[in-house]
Amino acid sequence: MTTADERTNLAGLDRAELAAVVAGLGEKPFRAKQLWHWIYHRGETDFANMTTLGGPLRAKLAEACAVRRPGVATEQTSTDRTRKWLLRFDDGNEAETVFIPEEDRGALCISSQVGCTLTCTFCHTGTQKLVRNLTAPEIVGQLMLARDSYGEWPSPKDGRLLSNIVMMGMGEPLFNYDNVAQALKIVMDPEGLAISKRRITLSTSGVVPEIHRCGAELGVNLAISLHAVRDDLRDVLVPINKKYPLKELVAALRAYPAANNARRITIEYVMLKGVNDSPAEAREMIRLLKGIPVKFNLIPFNVWPGAPYEMSPPHVIRRFSEILNDAGYSAPIRVPRGRDIMAACGQLKSASERARKGRATAMAAQVGGTA
Ligand code: SAH
Ligand code: SF4
Repeated sequence: MTTADERTNLAGLDRAELAAVVAGLGEKPFRAKQLWHWIYHRGETDFANMTTLGGPLRAKLAEACAVRRPGVATEQTSTDRTRKWLLRFDDGNEAETVFIPEEDRGALCISSQVGCTLTCTFCHTGTQKLVRNLTAPEIVGQLMLARDSYGEWPSPKDGRLLSNIVMMGMGEPLFNYDNVAQALKIVMDPEGLAISKRRITLSTSGVVPEIHRCGAELGVNLAISLHAVRDDLRDVLVPINKKYPLKELVAALRAYPAANNARRITIEYVMLKGVNDSPAEAREMIRLLKGIPVKFNLIPFNVWPGAPYEMSPPHVIRRFSEILNDAGYSAPIRVPRGRDIMAACGQLKSASERARKGRATAMAAQVGGTA
C-alpha cells in the first residue's frame, strides 16, 4: 500500500526535476509548467484542485506524488508578533524558522542546516551537536509553510507581509551551498514564489571560497558575521576564522560581485560586554573595511541558558554606533525580536536536542526559554 510519505513530494523540486516527474508519468512537457504554477504561484497542495491539469493526470499525480509542507512540531507567537515554527522533518530531525513582522512588511529567517558544525562561542545553535544539511525542498518548504500561515497565496506581487528572506536561521548556509542555491533559485523564480534577489540576504560566518559564487550565481545580498576585527579574538568568537582569517575574508568582500554603493554588504557585529565593544575596535573596523561598500548592523547579544557572555550596556552600543555613523556609515542597532519565545538571533536550538541532553539540562533550558 502506498502511504503519503512514500509518494514523491513535489514541493521544493526545481523546474528540471518537475519536468522529469512529468515525463516519468508519460505526460507532455507543458504539464510541468502548469504544475509549477499551481505549486509555487497558487500554493495549492491538493491535486484535485489543480483544475487545468485534467482529470486523468490529477488521478495519476495523486497516486504517485504529493505536495507537502515540512511537519510542524510547535508554533509559537511572541508578544511582539514574531512567530517561530519548530519543524520536524521526515527523519525526526528538527530546525526552526522565524518570521519577524514589521508594519507592512516582514522578514522570514530561514534555516539551512539542522544545528551547525561551527562552534561560535556566543551562538546557541553552535552548541547543538546533531547536524545535517537541509535539502532544497526542506529549505523552500519553510517559505511555503509561512505563506500558508499568513494566507499569502496566490503569490502576491505587492503588499506582501512576507516580503523578505534572510538566510540567518540555524546553520551555515555556505556549508550547504548546493541545496541553498537550488532553493533560492526556486524562491526567486518570477513565475512562482517570486521573491527578488534584492529582498534576499544570505548571512555567512565567512566561508571564503563560496562567497564569490554566491554573488555571481545567486546575486543575493550578503551579510557577514564579523564580530571581531583582530584575528586572535575572531579565532575564538568565530572559529572558522582560523581557516579563513580576516585578510582573506576582507579580500572576498572587496571582490563580492553583487555589492555596490546602493546594495551594501551588511557587517553583523554582536555586542559582547567587555569583549569586542570598545571605541578602538569600532575605529579599527572602519580601517579594516575601508573602500568596501558596507553598512553595519549592531546586534545586542541575546542570552541563552549557560551563555558565557553578557550584552554590552546600551550606552556602549550607542557609542560604538556613533563612531561608525561619524565615519559615514549606517550602523543601526538591531532591535531584538522574539526573545520571549527564544526566537532572537543566535537563540535557535531545537527542542529535541535539548530533550536528549537529559532531564536536568533540559529543564534548565526550558526555564531559560520561557523566562
Ligand atoms: N551561520 C550564519 C547565519 C546564522 S546566524 C552566520 O553565522 O552568519 C545569524 C546572525 O546571528 C549571525 O550574525 C550570528 O553571528 C548572530 N548571532 C549568533 N548568536 C547570537 C546571539 N546569541 N546574540 C546575537 N546574535 C547572535
Ligand atoms: Fe553556526 Fe552562525 Fe551560529 Fe556560528 S553564528 S555557530 S556559523 S549558526
